[in-house]
Amino acid sequence: MSKTIVIEAPAKINLMLDIKGKRSDGYHELETLMHQIDLVDKIHIKKDSSISIKSNSLEIPNDSSNLAYKAAQLILRTYGRGEGAAIFIDKNIPVGAGLAGGSTDAAAVLKGINILYNYDISDEKLAYISAQIGSDVPFCLQGNPRIIMDETVEGTAFKNDQNIEGSTCIARGRGELLTPLESKVLPWILLVKPDFQLSTAEVYGKFKMENVHIIPDLNAFIKAWEIYDIIELSHYCENVLETVSATLYPEIMQIKKSLERLGAVKATMSGSGPAVFGVFIHPEDALKAQQVMKESYSETYLVSSYGRGD
Ligand code: ATP
Repeated sequence: MSKTIVIEAPAKINLMLDIKGKRSDGYHELETLMHQIDLVDKIHIKKDSSISIKSNSLEIPNDSSNLAYKAAQLILRTYGRGEGAAIFIDKNIPVGAGLAGGSTDAAAVLKGINILYNYDISDEKLAYISAQIGSDVPFCLQGNPRIIMDETVEGTAFKNDQNIEGSTCIARGRGELLTPLESKVLPWILLVKPDFQLSTAEVYGKFKMENVHIIPDLNAFIKAWEIYDIIELSHYCENVLETVSATLYPEIMQIKKSLERLGAVKATMSGSGPAVFGVFIHPEDALKAQQVMKESYSETYLVSSYGRGD
C-alpha cells in the first residue's frame, strides 16, 4: 500500500470570460472558457495522523486558510476514520494572478487523498465536495494529471493510466456548471504576470455591466475550436473583467499591447488578473517575445496546453 503520492496541479487560463448578470446570492452569473496549461504546482501528500501544510512559497498560508488544507479537511472529515495527511506544496503557479493556483492545489488534494486512502469516492461526489471549497475547484478536478506514487497500489481505486490530459470546459453559474470541450492543444502561450496581485473578490465587486463594450462571442469561439483554427479562435479571446482590472492597473493593457506587437494573435487577461496570456502561432515569435518580456517581467512563462501527449 502506497504511503505517499505526488500529483500535478495545473494552472488554468480563461480563454474567454463573460458576465451575464448578478445573482440573488450575490455571485455573478458567469460564462467562461477554462483551459488547463502546463504550468503546475506539485502536491506531495503523505499519510499521517493529522493534517499539516508546508510549501516552498512565502506567499501562501500554511494553516487552515490554505485551500489545500480545506480540501483535506473536507474529504477526511466526510470519508475518513480519523486519518490525516501531511501536504507539501511545491509552488510554481504565481499567486493571486487569475490562474486558479489555490483551487488547483485543492483539487489535487481531493484526488490525491482519494487515491492514497483508497476511499473510492465517485467523480460526482468529489465534484460536490469541490464546489464547497471554491467556484474554480470543480473545473480543476477535470483532466487527468500526472501522478507518481512510491509503490504500486494493488486492487485500489487508483486508475491513472498516465494518459496525461488537460481539460477545457465552458463553465457557467458560479463556475461550477461545466460543459467539457474536445481536447485541443494550444502549443505556444506566453504568460506574463506583472509584479502585483489582484483580489478576485475586489475585481468582481467593482464590475459594472455598463462599462463593457466588447461582448465575448462564445458560439464563434466554439466553432473555431471545433475546427481547431487557432488564429480564428484567438480573435474571440475576450475577458470583460479587464474593464475593472486594467482600469485599476493600466499596466495590464500595456502588457497586452506588447504581446500583440511581438506577434501574439491576441493577448487577453486571465480570470480577474493580473496575468495576461498571448496566443502565438509561430514558435520563433513566441521565443523572441519570451526573451523581450522577461527583461521587464521576471514572471514570464512560455507554456502550452497541459498534457500535450507527453
Ligand atoms: P482564481 O483564478 O481562482 O480567482 P487566483 O489565481 O487569482 O485565483 P490564488 O493564487 O488562488 O488566486 O490565490 C488567491 C488567494 O488565496 C491568495 O491570497 C492566497 O494567499 C490564498 N491561498 C490559499 N491557499 C492557496 C494555495 N494553495 N495556493 C495559492 N493561494 C492560496
